[in-house]
Amino acid sequence: MEAVLSIKNLTKNFGRIKAVNNLSLEVKPGQVFGMLGPNGSGKTTTLGMLMGVVNPTGGEFTWFGEEPTHHVRKKIGAVLEHPIFYPYLSGQKNLELNAMIKQCPEANIPKVLELVELLDRKDDKYKTYSLGMKQRLAIASALLNDPTVLILDEPTNGLDPMGIAEIRELIKKIAANGKTIILASHLLDEVQKVCTHFAVLKKGNLVHYGPVDEVGKGEETVEVLAEVE
Ligand code: ATP
Repeated sequence: MEAVLSIKNLTKNFGRIKAVNNLSLEVKPGQVFGMLGPNGSGKTTTLGMLMGVVNPTGGEFTWFGEEPTHHVRKKIGAVLEHPIFYPYLSGQKNLELNAMIKQCPEANIPKVLELVELLDRKDDKYKTYSLGMKQRLAIASALLNDPTVLILDEPTNGLDPMGIAEIRELIKKIAANGKTIILASHLLDEVQKVCTHFAVLKKGNLVHYGPVDEVGKGEETVEVLAEVE
């Protein structure tokens, strides 16, 4: 099966800081792939390079076997940070604006709103949404152009337990709909609950990589997992 994402020796240095050091891994279709690591381990920098917003110092990667051109990136949806939503506009209006900016059909809006379970709140102002609802709207926006891959950076950060549970269920639902998902997390528990495969990063280095059911195998992994727990 051809890899959705293939990374070879990807490296990013910020001056003397080796944020990502010779990272090599593959993500296959249908996987929910977790990048697990404590703060500063290089997760966000890696996702930034994959999205084309951070220039690699070295190494390479392909999406669907192709160079990461603009055309290829259209198949990838991402929630990298909080997107700009207008507080006094409704969820629906905000998505209409996003659809216009991304040049995707507005016809997809009801579908994504239903998926993230915000149809009944679509006409309410964004500012009245809970943090969990805001995150679900961000995910809806990332899905507007029906991407093949969804990238999420710490999707449950700052949410209350109910919001966390809802986002985790949503991730599983999106995966069950056939999308490949790549997410960064510093929570082992989260990766165990939602991911099928994972990579553990420590100070920019890959220290473990494989299916989630192998969590904890290998001495160094145990050590790193103890840190991220
Ligand atoms: P967090 O969970 O805190 O976001 P992370 O695992 O995503 O952590 P990165 O944000 O990728 O880690 O950071 C990796 C390292 O690179 C850290 O030491 C960080 O300070 C450094 N770094 C990241 N971005 C920059 C930048 N623009 N300039 C300088 N150093 C940076």
